[in-house]
Amino acid sequence: MTQPIAFDNSYARLGPGFYTRTPPTPVAQPGLIAVNDGLAQRLGIDPDWLRSPEGLAMISGNKPPEGAEPIAQAYAGHQFGGLSLQLGDGRAVLLGEVVAPDGARFDIQLKGSGPTPFSRRGDGRAWLGPVLREYAVSEFMHAVGVPTTRALAAATTGEVVWRESPLPGAVLTRVASSHIRVGTFEFFAIRGDVDRLRALADHVIARHYPDATSPMELLAGVVARQAETIAQWMALGFIHGVMNTDNMAVSGETIDYGPCAFMDAYHPDTVFSSIDRHGRYAWSQQPQVAVWNLAQLASCLLPLMPDPEGAVPEATRIVHGFPAIYQAAWLKRFGAKLGLPEAGAGDQPLIERLLTMMAQQEADFTRTFRGLVTGEATAEFADPAPFMEWQRDWQARGPDLALAARANPARIPRNHRIQQAIDAGVQGDFAPFQRLVEAVTHPFEDRADWADLAASPEQGEEVRVTYCGT
Ligand code: AMP
Ligand code: MG
Repeated sequence: MTQPIAFDNSYARLGPGFYTRTPPTPVAQPGLIAVNDGLAQRLGIDPDWLRSPEGLAMISGNKPPEGAEPIAQAYAGHQFGGLSLQLGDGRAVLLGEVVAPDGARFDIQLKGSGPTPFSRRGDGRAWLGPVLREYAVSEFMHAVGVPTTRALAAATTGEVVWRESPLPGAVLTRVASSHIRVGTFEFFAIRGDVDRLRALADHVIARHYPDATSPMELLAGVVARQAETIAQWMALGFIHGVMNTDNMAVSGETIDYGPCAFMDAYHPDTVFSSIDRHGRYAWSQQPQVAVWNLAQLASCLLPLMPDPEGAVPEATRIVHGFPAIYQAAWLKRFGAKLGLPEAGAGDQPLIERLLTMMAQQEADFTRTFRGLVTGEATAEFADPAPFMEWQRDWQARGPDLALAARANPARIPRNHRIQQAIDAGVQGDFAPFQRLVEAVTHPFEDRADWADLAASPEQGEEVRVTYCGT
């Protein structure tokens, strides 16, 4: 039989110390939930093979295909500001890497694939809820152009996962340009393992920043990509929810969709995660947290520099360069949302005025911006007078509505819709999940048959708290 996936496992070749060789734990009764045809084709994998018994055996973790070298990656991380010396893949294994027809390299990882040496007290499993949430949200993010890990497939396990109650188990097949995190660098830096730290930096440079000629340029690259990505989150009302350093990918991709959510009503202090009691990872805090995380990366990279102490000012300057890059990206993104192609600092007050008004009146974030395109934004304001005054000033700027239409999705994966899809999935009905994925991966089409998915939650429908995948 022809090889279904041509694995080429460069991370595994880094050698011992970077991971443990840990196969996925087989599951009782794999069942297919979804295969992402478009992504499979992009990777050069036959989607029909993924649906075959051998494909299902791979995505459930029952039998890795030939060429896979399952490993659990080691990493550390600052969680809510406190350092954990060892985290690592506790509920995931990297099956290996595939080089797509266009030459791009991708990790194929199973999440929820059973215990590993990094599981600590966890069971290594995922229940259906977080798997469906990550699938829908990451595929939406891709559809609107945000750098992100993606979902290749999802499967049920036929096993029960115990959280507060018994829940159906599931496995997500996740694809990323890599799963290397700020926390991966921390793992070696805090152990003083400079050789592996250097090997990791060289690997990341070759893989993600081929133009970088030094660890300092690598740092600058990560800072720039994170600033761009987080500006995109902000422009979608997205709250990652658990921006620990182990959940920040050095590629710049959004990773580890746990208690993440999109705001319905806009408020800058919005928090969803049940464990984020002090709002550390609130919507408005995300750029500052990114700087904090990148400062951790900077200190990890110092030992690789010719004169580590002398390099501190330059590394600091690079990390402190985040706000300028972020601010320019923010202006570009929010400018586009207003249909202003060349938005500059002079346009910031116009954007801020709208946001302030939205916060005061609890206007729906997505519907207000989309409403600028469709002419329905006024309906989002209980008291429309200030908005109409703003609108006159905005229209005087001659906005390009086609640009705004491309920057303002009609639909996001709203929290309550995700919840409804999960509730149905728990009952064995995946139709609402399939429909949600279809709708949010075509986010710019105004379609009457998806109007319910574009609507704000009714009273009583709103989901205000989200939980970590565990
Ligand atoms: P995260 O939720 O992504 O911030 O995960 C933090 C750490 O907890 C990572 O090392 C995970 O691998 C680990 N972890 C989370 N859930 C589980 C689980 N159910 N079993 C084992 N390890 C887990
Ligand atoms: Mg994580």
